[in-house]
Amino acid sequence: MTIVLEQWLHDKIRQECQQNAIFSGYSGRQLQEKINRTEINKYHFYKLRESLKYAYNNSSFYRELYNQNGIEPDKIVSVDDWDKVPFTTPEALIENPGRLLCVSLGKIARTISILSSGTTGRPKKILYTPQDIDKIVDFMSAGMRAVASEGDVVHIILHGGSAYGQLDLLARGVAKMGATPIKAGVDHTPGEHLELIKTNRATLIFGQTGRIYRITQELLAEGHELSNLGVRILYLTSVYLPGAMRRRLESAWNCEVYLHYGMSEMGLAVATECSEHNGFHMNEADLYLEIIDPATGRIIEDETEGEMVFSTLTRAGVPLIRYRTRDISRWIKSPCSCGAATLLRFAGTNRRLESIMKLSSGDEIYPSLFDDVLYSIPQLFDYEVEVSEQRGKEQFLFTIETIGQDLMVAETINKILMNCPVINKNINSGRMFPPAINLIPYGSLDHSRRAKKLILDKRNI
Ligand SMILES: [Zn+2]
Repeated sequence: MTIVLEQWLHDKIRQECQQNAIFSGYSGRQLQEKINRTEINKYHFYKLRESLKYAYNNSSFYRELYNQNGIEPDKIVSVDDWDKVPFTTPEALIENPGRLLCVSLGKIARTISILSSGTTGRPKKILYTPQDIDKIVDFMSAGMRAVASEGDVVHIILHGGSAYGQLDLLARGVAKMGATPIKAGVDHTPGEHLELIKTNRATLIFGQTGRIYRITQELLAEGHELSNLGVRILYLTSVYLPGAMRRRLESAWNCEVYLHYGMSEMGLAVATECSEHNGFHMNEADLYLEIIDPATGRIIEDETEGEMVFSTLTRAGVPLIRYRTRDISRWIKSPCSCGAATLLRFAGTNRRLESIMKLSSGDEIYPSLFDDVLYSIPQLFDYEVEVSEQRGKEQFLFTIETIGQDLMVAETINKILMNCPVINKNINSGRMFPPAINLIPYGSLDHSRRAKKLILDKRNI
């Protein structure tokens, strides 16, 4: 069986070797028919150094950062020196969009503004050159080929249909691998999506998880049968999917669900789930991933959880070097049974550093903590959690969007929540009131105002 992403990466490295005499000298030998992990590692370090030098020579931000920290790119001579290179933070992207830029503005084809989940409200800006865009589309195409086949009709539910927008780029990637993109966008009602899916005989639906879950729930609530439409794959953008949600989607559409991990800073497409549905293989031709201890900054080599830190290897517009994503993950070191023997694999996890909150008991909570139990309720569309404090005790308020507001649903939800360990434990120790539950009709939660789901903290602290 051909492992698409692995072959794609090996081809990129061979290409680099053929076109770049310095790299082929550095890599030390003619590349064999089969590329092994050592050669991929050499490619990574070669590209990291190139990227570091490029950033130092062309961006005033990096030059100042490295001068201040005593980093001379020429003195980073082995991969063991890499951890001396300082991190780049999301704040740097917010504060200095122009100073990170390595080319003149005239060479920029597209600017992406990213809503930040922090409190400043100022967006991060990333600028891409046409070459950057080509590389993004190329990986999108490879990622799509890893999941879909030529002849698939791909119904795409994303923002950004104008040139180089998210939707446009993915459509280009789909077309490049020989499937047919349908640029559905995000403005249609669920009923209109259904009509388009039927008319175009879509076989794959691509989009953001929450949005596709909502569309599915609404169509099911209206009595539509989705299992016989011929949609064989839902390809969803998220790094984590509650098991209950995956099972419901697979059974509703009679399909297989694949996840795709995207991040605008890294060029939207970062990694894709393989046929094993246990972790992600990433774009190792253009990105280098480290997992670090967020407290000490030290690189984690084993499977301990830490913060994902990415470096771009080929980016011309705004290279990001040791960029702290605030996303938590861990390596999966065992060989992947999909057969990709030389590719790295990282796990999808359900937390981001900035969305973790502590209760007075010291217990950590985060937005997806209740996903698995709550999404097992078929009537639930979405929910929001708020923590408040009265008379020295904490209380959760769950605002839950459901179809039907009957008492049975409220009772089921209450029972499920009372059985959650974190709630149960804190009520028993006298630190928490039982949760309050507010059922609202579907369509009432407005998620458009923020980038990521957060727990609202209304405590007086
Ligand atoms: Zn795999």
